[in-house]
Amino acid sequence: MTPMMRQYLDIKEQHKDAILMFRLGDFYEMFFEDAKTASRELELTLTGKSCGMDERAPMCGVPFHSADGYIARLVAKGYKVAICEQMEDPKQAKGIVHRDIIRIVTPGTIVDESFLSTRSTNYMASVFVEDGKCGVVFVDVSTGEMMGTAFGDDPNCDKLISELERFSPVEAAVGGKGRFHKRLEEYIRDHKESMLVFSYEGEDVSPSARATVDNHLTNGGEIKDPMLLTAAAALLEYLVETQKSDLSHIREIRIYSSGEFMDIDPGSRRNLELVETMRDKSKKGSIFWVLDRTRTSMGSRLLKSWIMRPLINAAAITNRLSGVEELVKTPSLREELGDALSDVLDIERLMGRVSMGLCNAKDLVSLRSSFAALPRIYKALCSCRSVIMNTQAAMFDCLDDVYDILDRAIVDEPPATLREGGLIKPGYNEDIDRLRGASEHGRGSLGSIEARERERTGIKNLKIKYNKVFGYYIEISKSNLDKVPEDYIRKQTTVNGERFITPELKDVENAVIGANERLEALEYEEFVRVRNRVGAEVERIDRTARAIATADCLYSLAETAVKNNYVRPEITLTDEIYIKDGRHPVVEKVLKNGLFVPNDTELDCGANRAAIITGPNMAGKSTYMRQVAVITLMAQMGSFVPASKCRIGIVDKIFTRIGASDDLAAGQSTFTLEMSEVSYILKNATKNSLCILDEVGRGTSTYDGLSIAWAVIEHIVKKIGMKTLFATHYHELTVLEERLDGVKNYNTACKKRGDDITFLRKIVRGGTDDSYGIEVAKLSGVPNPVIKRAKEVLATVERGSVGGEPRQVKDEPQLSFAAVEESPVAEALRKIDVTTLTPIEAMNELYKLQQMLDG
Ligand code: ADP
Ligand code: MG
Repeated sequence: MTPMMRQYLDIKEQHKDAILMFRLGDFYEMFFEDAKTASRELELTLTGKSCGMDERAPMCGVPFHSADGYIARLVAKGYKVAICEQMEDPKQAKGIVHRDIIRIVTPGTIVDESFLSTRSTNYMASVFVEDGKCGVVFVDVSTGEMMGTAFGDDPNCDKLISELERFSPVEAAVGGKGRFHKRLEEYIRDHKESMLVFSYEGEDVSPSARATVDNHLTNGGEIKDPMLLTAAAALLEYLVETQKSDLSHIREIRIYSSGEFMDIDPGSRRNLELVETMRDKSKKGSIFWVLDRTRTSMGSRLLKSWIMRPLINAAAITNRLSGVEELVKTPSLREELGDALSDVLDIERLMGRVSMGLCNAKDLVSLRSSFAALPRIYKALCSCRSVIMNTQAAMFDCLDDVYDILDRAIVDEPPATLREGGLIKPGYNEDIDRLRGASEHGRGSLGSIEARERERTGIKNLKIKYNKVFGYYIEISKSNLDKVPEDYIRKQTTVNGERFITPELKDVENAVIGANERLEALEYEEFVRVRNRVGAEVERIDRTARAIATADCLYSLAETAVKNNYVRPEITLTDEIYIKDGRHPVVEKVLKNGLFVPNDTELDCGANRAAIITGPNMAGKSTYMRQVAVITLMAQMGSFVPASKCRIGIVDKIFTRIGASDDLAAGQSTFTLEMSEVSYILKNATKNSLCILDEVGRGTSTYDGLSIAWAVIEHIVKKIGMKTLFATHYHELTVLEERLDGVKNYNTACKKRGDDITFLRKIVRGGTDDSYGIEVAKLSGVPNPVIKRAKEVLATVERGSVGGEPRQVKDEPQLSFAAVEESPVAEALRKIDVTTLTPIEAMNELYKLQQMLDG
């Protein structure tokens, strides 16, 4: 086996779980199984390399200068990639070049720009679970944000899983005896496509954890919980092991308790479409989509986390609301702040790369241009009067000194490479200027040599040229060869003439090349000095970045409030939710201007505890209930709300159970899923919660469903006492208003004329006794014969139920199969080729269709 191959195998042995990219000259090569995997995943040609064994080793490679993209693609597909570099200059190496792993790239630790979507966070989680207790830590390596929490009592991992859902990490380290808990294993299995997981042995709380944590974090001492401590230490050790770099930007952990935030379970977060829609998981159509008018990616990420974790502390909420209000009321200030914010790039992530030694000169230029905007932002913050804005101003640092260094040191448009010079501005470093001068002087002297030699030889077209093989040479065309002086040394004959060198030319060349080499080395050194100088200020810079993110969120909420005509909610310590003319922020945006019908809401823990909402399908029940939850949530995150007046008594948790057939994908039947969600709600709700139940009991037979719905409402109203909205098609439930204190009936107003029905989308007091099912069926295009037959059946059923008899079909109705065949109108419609139809023809077709309907 060749020595190189032996070196490769030694290194590979230590990194079996990763694809090893092995630097050979200008390429990163992969061998054996890694080569096969990479060639398949990256569509690279698989070749072979003789390595001293019988067979050639399968091999494929990528050029080192474009490796980042390939690495990112492998990581995106869930692989780890270990990068092995040449640790010395191959020219100077004695024997085999020393090589070592410089970094292991994983989904949770990648900081490559092309991979990270700027608007969302990329979390890695570390979890330690034991005896029903657990600690969990999340870190975004690209920005240095780290936070953790612990649960002293979480036997079923519910709380843990809720946190995992909230952060949706792309990678997780899982340790402790409890890591095999059934629920946790299920969660991991369900997320194996999107989350790379490794479990580590740690059976006991690690004794060295305290030292590890104190070593890396300035506030490690704040971690008291042993589970959290072990999880944090495991994470830090893993990061050091894989990144092999200074992680100075990860230096603080924010320990939170889930009690600081409104509790929203993962299912409800999905149901309410907080950050993505249920159907296609897109941002468009979500609450985040409506609210996000941030100008920076840092602001956008923070806003998302505000939506995912609304507050429950009245003072903190009011603080945010007052900041928003100030910006709403002062348009000039808002505009100025927005403009200034637009010039700020992703400082957090840029600083991540600076701290990890992965940034290039372009990154420093990005930081510089961001810092240039700071004085304007600071000025805007200082002219604000709200407490929250003043707090941001107090945290703020205009970083003049750092800006100054960057401004003086780094050229405006540096190259992407760091080793080929062209990075440092003139006037920053004397040695660099001197070498540049020498190099330029050398090149300049070539001109005078050329002129002198033309004179001396009398060859008018004598030229000094340069190529990589000979360096500088003199070119003489064929016709002038007889005039070549004795002292020229012939180097090469070409078609058109000959090439010569002279000792003088070689002296100049050595000076120029020597100067260039030293220049490149010196520029790189200076670049690293500047980078480290900026890196040393990470604390000030991060603090300022956080202030910017907060200001940007408030800006975004203010801008949205103005554009969408929202009002400031009043936050109270009562148990009341009062909304006048409330709208659903997303539905109102999707509908054309002014079509959305506003509705009022009045809930409390007394006479208006539960609202039972009846009405036909498509009448707007679900939209109404979601709008109440969403407005409450928006108010508690500090946003203005779509209403004309709003008072929110702080809610501790929001629960939703919204019938979604999509859930079938999870493999559970709708009904079991529904019931497990209901049981979760009943077990976790408090008097201060808000609950939305949409068509509970639908997944089973009528009587079962009705009885379950009935019992659930009774339990909620009597035992829990929380505010509840309950949409149902069981009209029987409206009798609860008389039987239970706190229950009020509502229905969705409809206008009915003959068989036709119009939805007014207005929620009004009182129950309905008519489900309008048949009318809705008609509206939805069910063929006329079926509608007609349905009415006959209904009549039979209703006759059957007269006299207190159970509703049962006495005469088995004979449903004709002809009725379910497609109507001729639909058939004709299908045949029309819309792409070739002229407007006149379309009118004619429409006319014909109408005729068919009447006939
Ligand atoms: P339900 O739950 O009663 O079946 P939905 O809430 O799903 O009804 O509403 C059906 C459709 O009606 C929605 O897609 C929406 O376009 C429209 N809609 C709902 N509420 C309103 C409203 N307040 N104003 C205007 N359109 C509405
Ligand atoms: Mg509905």
